[in-house]
Amino acid sequence: MRSFPIFLELSGRRALIVGGGEVGDRKAEPLRKAGAAVDFCTGFDPVCLRGCSIAVGAGAPEDQLQAVFAEATRLGIPVNCVDRPELCSFITPAIVDRDPLTIAISSGGAAPVLARLLRARIESLVAPAYGRLGALADAFKAETRRRLPDVLRRRRMLERALGGRVAELMLAGQDETARAAYAEALDAAEGEADTPERGIVHLVGAGPGAADLLTLRALRLLGEADVIVHDRLVGAPVLEAARRDAERIDVGKSGPRHSLPQDEINALLVRLGREGRKVVRLKGGDPFVFGRGGEEAEALRAAGITVEVVPGVTAALACAAQAGIPLTHRDASQSLTFVTGHTADLDWPTLARSGTLAVYMGLSALPRLRDGLLGAGLDPTTPAALVENGGRDTQRLLRGTLDSLVADAPGWAEAGPVLLLVGAVVARGAKGGQGSALDPPGAAPLDRRT
Ligand code: SAH
Repeated sequence: MRSFPIFLELSGRRALIVGGGEVGDRKAEPLRKAGAAVDFCTGFDPVCLRGCSIAVGAGAPEDQLQAVFAEATRLGIPVNCVDRPELCSFITPAIVDRDPLTIAISSGGAAPVLARLLRARIESLVAPAYGRLGALADAFKAETRRRLPDVLRRRRMLERALGGRVAELMLAGQDETARAAYAEALDAAEGEADTPERGIVHLVGAGPGAADLLTLRALRLLGEADVIVHDRLVGAPVLEAARRDAERIDVGKSGPRHSLPQDEINALLVRLGREGRKVVRLKGGDPFVFGRGGEEAEALRAAGITVEVVPGVTAALACAAQAGIPLTHRDASQSLTFVTGHTADLDWPTLARSGTLAVYMGLSALPRLRDGLLGAGLDPTTPAALVENGGRDTQRLLRGTLDSLVADAPGWAEAGPVLLLVGAVVARGAKGGQGSALDPPGAAPLDRRT
């Protein structure tokens, strides 16, 4: 971030514009809108800055701009000289004004035109009705606080009203009905106030690591979360999609062996859920595929906390898609089995008869998997592949048979998570050499926007 965005409280304060003319008038307008009393001074004198909260140099001669910048800086007054970045302690963003909502956009001086283009897009996206919605919430603010003194209840009611029917009515231009709907929502929330409040935790699938493989629901929840509890598999691009000021708790910091024990994670989720904050438990891939999401959901429910699960793109799907390997195929495989390599007692005969096997956590167990499957009658020429960092722009693929993979894997695998695929479908995938990152021949290039 090039600069730190803030909104300045100016109502009833003095703003000084050194200079004037058309630019000065243009600069005065938003200051007045924000409630400032704007004074103009031509012929700058340091005395003019007395009692000022903000100073703008616009259309004044060079020596005066220099002087106002120096003096304001000395006094700690924010100062901006128009089109003179070196004489500015702050910059003015492009603004979308939906009073009481204000959206400010800045490129930090890098590309003001881009900021303006973006503003135009946001203008069309955020209808003026949002301003009226904000005003409605403001008008009811005191009453809402009085009737719903509990922060959590109040927030729930507001999220429901402002994100749902009240907003829809306002956007449809039915302001009076929207107002009535708000009052109804408030009545209803107050009526519910006697039932005991339960916290809520969202168990959210983060997919394989690319932000654009998140579901829209996951993206929305990440934008709303107060606290995000995530494990190591969740990629940085996904975490960046979360609300900036959300608290992030990494429960898998230094690899699986050093991560927080599961019962402590469960206890943490229960505690956060009870605090009534909006909790997102973010898990790599899908939360219910080898992610211990089931255990977390049980612990939360046992503690009386509501659990909502949002599915994610699981590793097998992401790996196969990007490598161009169809997981089922009319002529090659009629079934797909998800299995973990972490467990000792697998049903080898059943697995050996499966169409396609997607083995999670199978890398260190490769020799045992080969022995078990071949011992149970799997054809030793059955194609198999290892996919590392599936669904990310660092995806790598190693193709072969179980025998060759056992031999080659130790020198091939790097630090990322690895999935093992076994079955005739592997031969139908894109042709990629050992260790190569794969783009299926003839397919569109991989999307690397992560
Ligand atoms: N819930 C996750 C799986 C967690 S188990 C999901 O649905 O994907 C962890 C195992 O998943 C890893 O050992 C690896 O086998 C597999 N895995 C997870 N992410 C992966 C990725 N991006 N590429 C390859 N394998 C992955």
